[in-house]
Amino acid sequence: MPDLALRLSGLAVSPGTGAGPVHSLAPPPSLPAQADVVVDAVAETARAVAALEQVAADLERRASGATATAADVLEAQALIARDPVLAESVAGRVLDGAGAPWAIDAALREQQAVFVEMGGYLGERAADLDDIRARAVALLLGVPMPGVPSPGVPFVLVADDLAPADTALLDRAMVRALVTARGGPTSHTAILARALGIPAVVGCRGILDLPDGTTVRVDGTAGTVSAIRAEEVAAVQAEADAERVAAVAASGPGRTSDGHPVKLLRNIGSSEDLVGTEGDDGFEGVGLFRSEFLYLGRTTAPSGDEQEQAYRKLFEAVGGAKVVVRTLDAGADNPLPFLGLGDEENPALGVRGLRVARRRPEVLAEQLGAVARAAIATGADVWVMAPMVSTVDEAADFAEQAHAVGLPRAGAMVEVPAAALQAARLLEVVDFLSIGTNDLSQYALAADRMNGDLADLLDPWQPALLQLIAMCAAAGRHAGKSVSVCGEAAADPLLAPVLVGMGITSLSMSSASVPAVRAALLSRTWEDCEHLAAVALAARDAVSARTEVAAVVRR
Ligand code: PEP
Ligand code: MG
Repeated sequence: MPDLALRLSGLAVSPGTGAGPVHSLAPPPSLPAQADVVVDAVAETARAVAALEQVAADLERRASGATATAADVLEAQALIARDPVLAESVAGRVLDGAGAPWAIDAALREQQAVFVEMGGYLGERAADLDDIRARAVALLLGVPMPGVPSPGVPFVLVADDLAPADTALLDRAMVRALVTARGGPTSHTAILARALGIPAVVGCRGILDLPDGTTVRVDGTAGTVSAIRAEEVAAVQAEADAERVAAVAASGPGRTSDGHPVKLLRNIGSSEDLVGTEGDDGFEGVGLFRSEFLYLGRTTAPSGDEQEQAYRKLFEAVGGAKVVVRTLDAGADNPLPFLGLGDEENPALGVRGLRVARRRPEVLAEQLGAVARAAIATGADVWVMAPMVSTVDEAADFAEQAHAVGLPRAGAMVEVPAAALQAARLLEVVDFLSIGTNDLSQYALAADRMNGDLADLLDPWQPALLQLIAMCAAAGRHAGKSVSVCGEAAADPLLAPVLVGMGITSLSMSSASVPAVRAALLSRTWEDCEHLAAVALAARDAVSARTEVAAVVRR
């Protein structure tokens, strides 16, 4: 019987409730130092090859149930596991006396170094070899298979933190919630959980102490994990499913219950993220197109023509709805070698985002030109905005440049506190503002957004962040211009009405977050939202802001 008083809390990063037994992500096996020299090399090689074959077959089996993108990755991994060159390299090591697990470990490490050296697509595949190695070694050592467990029943996945490879294949039907001990609101786990629509809590201290099988209820909206009896799981889950169905049933454009419109837009990284939005009567456009994917893994800049083609494809996929293109946000955690910016002591405070145009103005000019040509050719409703704007002059230069190439709507992202403080002046020179709360939290609270130990400071309910957002919204109301939120804060169904009550005109988030936010707005009047904004802004800390707003909502 679990300790029913157990209640852990962390950061609520993906809304909804999930219940079930917890099961932890198994770590990769550690390879002990090799003691004996192998005598029967033929048998040992056969053992190694059989293990690699089993890993390949397992990868293929998982590929058959995965999405197209994940299946491609898994099939490529299976090919590597079956590669005769790998088998030869393993056999050579066994002949030299290495046991099967050590031979596989060394052969794959060598191959990994070659991939890294080659760079490009193969360089990106290097990390995939870790998974093959860990799986083959676990098989040979007879220890639990690393990665996401398969307990055979729906469960709550618990981990210290999740790597992209762990999460790419999560089965929505089996994983009812995710809880990690580390990670912040913008961590990979958080973004992926929201994209998959799995309730999640991150930065949850104490979660790793729960024995596997403990039954819990995870509230991804409040950020709590509480122990429940095994007999309660089905009822708790059924209630959560009913809520989800109700959220999905709400349709149409975003609005409050009294009809005040609030555009609900999508955050995307490529046209593929729009799959599933065709024919959706609630699709109102793209509020943040992260354009970096056009540049990733490149040693030279993509040509203007190539960029134009990519934008045409995107604008056509959006079918006439609004698209906000964010110009290249390189630097900091997103270094791009072709820019030749060199190493920086403090990259988050360095030449990133719009600042790159100081050194490489032609990169921005080329991008704006390509966006403009594609916009004109497709007749799409294209808006452009610059990341990491800190001064009015920067914003004015950007807007002037965008307008000059025929892009009528040019905006500034508010990601630096200086920009929020200058919101009214920024709106004199740009057509709109979009608040990137992920970076605005990082810079306002001076807390690295990747540092899970500081997750509480990155909580979007922090009063300082809410006040900066409110300043921008007030400036927008005064100027009669649009001020949106496109950071992860917009995806929180409890916070969304608060933002709207401050005067935020549109919210942009991953597609999976839209139904819950739409339902949350539809259950409140505009006046309710204003009241919730006042409650949140009066709170002295993030936890009280969230709990006081939740208390009003549930009343
Ligand atoms: C943000 O900073 O909130 C944002 C939307 O941009 P990104 O997460 O891509 O930095
Ligand atoms: Mg940002």
